[in-house]
Amino acid sequence: MDNRGFEWTKEKRQRKLRLIMPEELKNVFFASVYCRGELMDSTEGDPEKIWEILSSNFNNTGLVAPYQVHGTQVITSSSSFALPLRPEADGVLIEASSDSMASLRFADCCPVVIASDSPAPWMLLLHSGFVGTVKNIVGRSLAGLYENRPGSKSERITAWIGPCICRDCYSRKMEDPSTQNALTVFSPDNYLKKNGMTYFDIRGEIKRQLMQCSVPYDNIYEVEGCTYCNNDFYYSYRAGDEKARIFLLGGNTTKEA
Ligand SMILES: [Zn+2]
Repeated sequence: MDNRGFEWTKEKRQRKLRLIMPEELKNVFFASVYCRGELMDSTEGDPEKIWEILSSNFNNTGLVAPYQVHGTQVITSSSSFALPLRPEADGVLIEASSDSMASLRFADCCPVVIASDSPAPWMLLLHSGFVGTVKNIVGRSLAGLYENRPGSKSERITAWIGPCICRDCYSRKMEDPSTQNALTVFSPDNYLKKNGMTYFDIRGEIKRQLMQCSVPYDNIYEVEGCTYCNNDFYYSYRAGDEKARIFLLGGNTTKEA
């Protein structure tokens, strides 16, 4: 599998994809995707349980772990939103001054991380599943960022598209109103109608949304493979993983013990 922009690690029977940061962000942020493994199996997608085990590796910093509702709300990685609180949101914004770690959970939906040093370092963690992609959480959160940060240079942005369900596995019934709605939003390149079903390429559409926000094509990294096709590596709701989740964790490098 070609995974430019990511590196696989394995510790104590827990597979992890670490995002490779560009030089200018190496000493500022880090982010990792915890895939199928012992830690994720045993904690069944519960962020409190995950953090009980992991927090000592991160100086016992608090964890922001929003209750994900397939919306477009982004909260800041601040102790005022950290566990045991579970505010509703599908994105977390990390800045150099953030006092908490940030996380999101996935099982077929797509983890997206976007980061830049312009005009000052920031990193976004986003939950973009079918619904979030139709709502364009990527475009909306970048528009919000540009608005609050005049002088942001989009060519300084790097984006990572993590493991999600592939275009051959994600089908929806044609007559479903949310399918019909998605057909008005998705580029025709990113869906296929076949035998009364529509197959959606969520990852392809996210890539298009990033490029619409002027993120350079060469700065967009994506993990090959699929949560459903490669279920031995990932968790997939459609493949029967009801509880365990892929866990995306990000924060300031200073929080790593
Ligand atoms: Zn697949």
